[in-house]
Amino acid sequence: MSRVAIIGGGFAGMAAAYELGKKGYATFLFERMPELGGLAGTFPIEGARLERGYHHWFTSDTHIVALMKELGLEDRLMWIPSKVGLFYAGKIWNWVTPMDVLRYTPLPFLDRLRLGFTTFYLTYLAARGNKAKKIAAYERITAAAWLKRYAGPHAWEKAWGPLFRGKFGAEAENVPLVWLWYKAVLRLGSRKGFTQEVLGYPRGSFQVLIDALERAILKHGGRIFKGTAVRRIVVENGVARGLEFESPEAIRAGGLDQNELGYVPFDRIICTAPSFATVRLVQDFPDWYLAKIKSANYMAAVLIILKMKRPLSHIYWLNIADRSIPFVATIEQTNFVPPETYNRKHIVYLSNYLDASSPYFHMNRDELFQAYLPHLRKINPHFSPDWVEEYWHFKEAAAQPVVPLNYSQLIPEYRTPIRNLYLANTTQIYPEDRGTNYSVRLGQTIAALVEEDVKSGHGWQ
Ligand SMILES: Cc1cc2nc3c(=O)[nH]c(=O)nc-3n(C[C@H](O)[C@H](O)[C@H](O)COP(=O)(O)OP(=O)(O)OC[C@H]3O[C@@H](n4cnc5c(N)ncnc54)[C@H](O)[C@@H]3O)c2cc1C
Repeated sequence: MSRVAIIGGGFAGMAAAYELGKKGYATFLFERMPELGGLAGTFPIEGARLERGYHHWFTSDTHIVALMKELGLEDRLMWIPSKVGLFYAGKIWNWVTPMDVLRYTPLPFLDRLRLGFTTFYLTYLAARGNKAKKIAAYERITAAAWLKRYAGPHAWEKAWGPLFRGKFGAEAENVPLVWLWYKAVLRLGSRKGFTQEVLGYPRGSFQVLIDALERAILKHGGRIFKGTAVRRIVVENGVARGLEFESPEAIRAGGLDQNELGYVPFDRIICTAPSFATVRLVQDFPDWYLAKIKSANYMAAVLIILKMKRPLSHIYWLNIADRSIPFVATIEQTNFVPPETYNRKHIVYLSNYLDASSPYFHMNRDELFQAYLPHLRKINPHFSPDWVEEYWHFKEAAAQPVVPLNYSQLIPEYRTPIRNLYLANTTQIYPEDRGTNYSVRLGQTIAALVEEDVKSGHGWQ
């Protein structure tokens, strides 16, 4: 039986381990953190669990919904109308329906019409036709350049720009149009008719699915090593042979033996770590593959999560267009999932996407909280610091890949040039945006590739 090692216990790694286990492979999942879940991991709060970074699904997220069903979690799925807003000029503007756009008076009327038309064009008209041709056309230009030209510079400054900054921070101007186009096409699937969007969330948080996947992996004979960081992927003569670990004692204690060369041998290795971390694990990639793997940048995410006595707003997802405020969005979980879930407390994420060199990325919990605090009153003039009962701080260096123009030519292949080594990370999700749904799909795709290769003898030496 082939022994397959999987580096990373996020959704891609868990899905790959589960699929391969079902096919009868001996799987070994290594996660450096004490818990599984990766970017979608959770923490305890008021007797419940909550994602470290806000999470929901769109109705187009069919792979993860199918997985929920397969694992018997169908009854946990909730579909909830979303409340989206934009904070600009001291006011919260609803941002859900076409009428909301027409009512957005910070933009002159003509600009509102242009904004509405470009949105309609991307969502409905550009959605038709040959997908490959559309991707080729829309990956050549940035969304910012296209929107400034067709929706106008005011619409970029006061509407689109803030929405992009809410997602890509300082990289907002560099995002290819294909990202926006595909997002618009997919989001259409999350709408009930022309207006209301519904979003999915599992009752009990994403932890419910993480736990179910863990159980399913173990049930199929898989081994899971948490708190176990891989130090090196051992490559000999262009073939991946095994893994070295940061703490070999823990590996030995887990019953895995190193060979006389000091590594644990495996037949196939799947790496789901971010690209920059993968490059540190493997020194042997040829330059052409390295150029591909390094072509996408990552935005870091920094989050402060507030537990409050009162709500901050009536909106779930509030994009901040006021540039004097040092975070790019507030996500009020309890305007999505009822406060009763969290002992009637109100939960708000203050979210920032930024470069890992930004001072905000390096501030500690209290420094960041103090830096953000004065700005909450701009959003809700009644806000008082004593509303905040507790707060948490999380940061992720590889939160959001930002791909360059014409990325379809640069996506690193799943089968790396090192035999028996596979790459499966968020930079390979294109033209869709990264998300748990696509990480599940990626894990399933890689599992199928591994099986195909084992059966055909591909990669063996
Ligand atoms: C703020 C934020 C909000 C988001 N919102 C949503 C949302 O609403 N809906 C949605 O579907 N998705 C959302 N996402 C995206 C989603 O969380 C990710 O796309 C998905 O979880 C990625 O899964 P992955 O397995 O591909 O990668 P990861 O989750 O990054 O998993 C990779 C794992 O590899 C581990 N690892 C790295 N190096 C090593 C090593 N040397 N040894 C062992 N282990 C290692 C890491 O610890 C990590 O657990 C959000 C992400 C963020 C940051």
